[in-house]
Amino acid sequence: MSVPVFYSPHYLRYTFGPQHPFSPLRLEMLLDLLQALGQAPLYLEPPQATREEVRSVHLESFVRRVETASRGENLPDLAAYGLGTGDTPIFPDMDGATRWLVGGTLEAARTILRGTASEVLQLGGGLHHAQADLASGFCVYNDLSIAIRHLSQQGLRVAYIDIDVHHGDGVQWIHYDEAEVLTFSIHESGRYLFPGTGHLHEIGKAAGTGRKLNLPLEPFTEDASYLEVFQMTLEPALKWFRPDVLLVQCGADAHYQDPLAEILLTTQAYAQLFSLLRQYARAFAAGKVIYTLGGGYHLDATSRVWTMLYLSLQDQALPDHLPQPWLERWGTRLGHFLTHTLHDPPGSYSEIPRRLEIERRNRQVAQRMLETVQPYWH
Ligand SMILES: [Zn+2]
Repeated sequence: MSVPVFYSPHYLRYTFGPQHPFSPLRLEMLLDLLQALGQAPLYLEPPQATREEVRSVHLESFVRRVETASRGENLPDLAAYGLGTGDTPIFPDMDGATRWLVGGTLEAARTILRGTASEVLQLGGGLHHAQADLASGFCVYNDLSIAIRHLSQQGLRVAYIDIDVHHGDGVQWIHYDEAEVLTFSIHESGRYLFPGTGHLHEIGKAAGTGRKLNLPLEPFTEDASYLEVFQMTLEPALKWFRPDVLLVQCGADAHYQDPLAEILLTTQAYAQLFSLLRQYARAFAAGKVIYTLGGGYHLDATSRVWTMLYLSLQDQALPDHLPQPWLERWGTRLGHFLTHTLHDPPGSYSEIPRRLEIERRNRQVAQRMLETVQPYWH
């Protein structure tokens, strides 16, 4: 059975302008590549999320500010809500545009609840930095938390897994004291990268203690070390927590070409990550899993990583070479050559001198994380 895909052309309205890295071009390029490969998704169009659904997570004062900004009206305190900043500028109808993305993630959650599919792909969303009263890091409303809230209100235990290179701070803080929500974020350490959080000591509070997990990695971490610590920590956590469903934010910005961060994953690692996540869903969550997109700012790498996600979920073989017309179309449009193969060619970047030291430190961080949270696992 094919995996249902949620997408709407309305998603393209979520745009902060032509110079901004969180660009709808990422989606256009991805869909065009899938089509060129003869794999155009038969997507389902979700309904737009309602104001009330957004309010299940976000504060009234914040939603009102987003609506005001959306209409082009100005209030002196918008910046205090993270609106109109360099990262998250105001654009016309930002409230409506974001509610379309929220609608897709929410509809993916409803599909799981109805039991009509066990794996679902939302081709959008993943706005993990938005907090209850704050827009942040290109994120206005937090579609992930809104979906998590809906699932937990129906009694489901959710394990949220965030492979975006940035810490999934919004989701973590929104569910920080909740016992039925496990959050796991693997990211470049906040010592070096936005949003500056996601440290080992952030383990949740009250009933949520020991259920918020962070794996801050050294800059220049490569495939082998990333996969080693990912498995070393996530596997025991899921085995213990036994979620009813996984929600995975598949940001593609841990790729080595990404301009905003310094983790060095290749597409080979992403293929393994997607395969591991499917295995974990089957082993620990009765096969139930929702995937969303997220960050990813190198257009070439991001469209290849998400194409791999799509094809893997549909049990399609991964092609070697990319279609020439697609390469020419987008090469011309972007003004530079694109990688000709779905996988990164070998030897894509030069050798990292501190490799062993980085591996040792990551292993140590993973070990310390487990030692910090495991006393609360009972
Ligand atoms: Zn990111």
